[in-house]
Amino acid sequence: MQSEKVVIIGSGPAGLTAALYTARANLKPVVLAGMQLGGQVSITYEVENYPGFPDGLGGPDLVEKFQKQAERFGAQIEYDIATEVDLTHGSPFMVKTASKTYQADTVIITTGATPHKLSIPGESEFVGRGVSYCATCDGFFFRGKDVVVVGGGDSALEEGIFLTRFANKVNLIHRRDSLRAGTLLQSRANASEKFGFTWDTIVDEIAGKDTVEAVRVHNIKTGAVESIKTDGVFIFIGHYPNTDLFKGQLALDEHGYLITDKLMQTSVQGVFAAGEVQDPVYRQVATSVGQGTAAGMSAIRWLEQRETAMAAAAGK
Ligand code: NAP
Repeated sequence: MQSEKVVIIGSGPAGLTAALYTARANLKPVVLAGMQLGGQVSITYEVENYPGFPDGLGGPDLVEKFQKQAERFGAQIEYDIATEVDLTHGSPFMVKTASKTYQADTVIITTGATPHKLSIPGESEFVGRGVSYCATCDGFFFRGKDVVVVGGGDSALEEGIFLTRFANKVNLIHRRDSLRAGTLLQSRANASEKFGFTWDTIVDEIAGKDTVEAVRVHNIKTGAVESIKTDGVFIFIGHYPNTDLFKGQLALDEHGYLITDKLMQTSVQGVFAAGEVQDPVYRQVATSVGQGTAAGMSAIRWLEQRETAMAAAAGK
């Protein structure tokens, strides 16, 4: 059992910022980085809306800067995954990984969110062979090819616009006749000759032999069924929060997001959360950084208050 003041589960912008703040308070936080340091930002080609970088910068570059800054003040980044937690008996809390068990005075949860799946025939079979959830990771492989994007939100438009750098044609298939995405992204998509829309349409199946060759779709207004030839299918239909580890221990909302108060505290005192695991609305690097700051500062204050209370109880 390794005793720590602060264990941070997750290493996206929220986690690395909480690490920076708690490290600067000399608490030597342990960050369990999970499968991918930086989370979703690390697979983002370019971040244009993070203040302080007027020319934008690559997602991996931004993650590296976050990491270096946190480590400079003593954050300990472990490339390990939390497999079990016990948050039910108050502080210290237990956090287990494949190789270690931590006893943590405070825990900050920044486990982020994972893309939704369409759950249709062909989807899981063709992952890595034409089906993708990350344009910045896989767009390069579709140079000169035709791709389909599924979804109508900011992610679908943003990633679809990115794909026009490589693809010959980007056909966005949306289940309604109007987009959820913001107007700026809509006008950028409309301005691109490579970008086209298929409205009121649901994708029922992804078909092919070795790789994706077509999607089978139906129009919800006319009922017409057709097969659209394509080399790739990029799916951006929202995310679900990574909260499985905390079910039954922390309060979740009806969509599974952690519920936090103004101090970023969860339903258990001494356990804080920040970033997309508790934020279904904004989902920006800048908001995650702000929430990570708040969670880090709240953890610092919570530890100070607890120490003061313990000293008073001991008559010091
Ligand atoms: P989202 O806003 O929830 O949009 C999901 C889209 O997928 C919707 O258009 C939805 O259709 C569609 N959809 C959902 N389930 C579907 C299904 N089973 N089959 C077909 N289509 C389905 O998700 P998001 O685009 O990932 O964005 C999430 C949040 O992140 C938003 O708040 C967004 O503003 C933010 N975001 C911001 C930026 C940016 O500012 N640069 C970039 C990315 C994301 P309906 O419209 O019919 O519901």
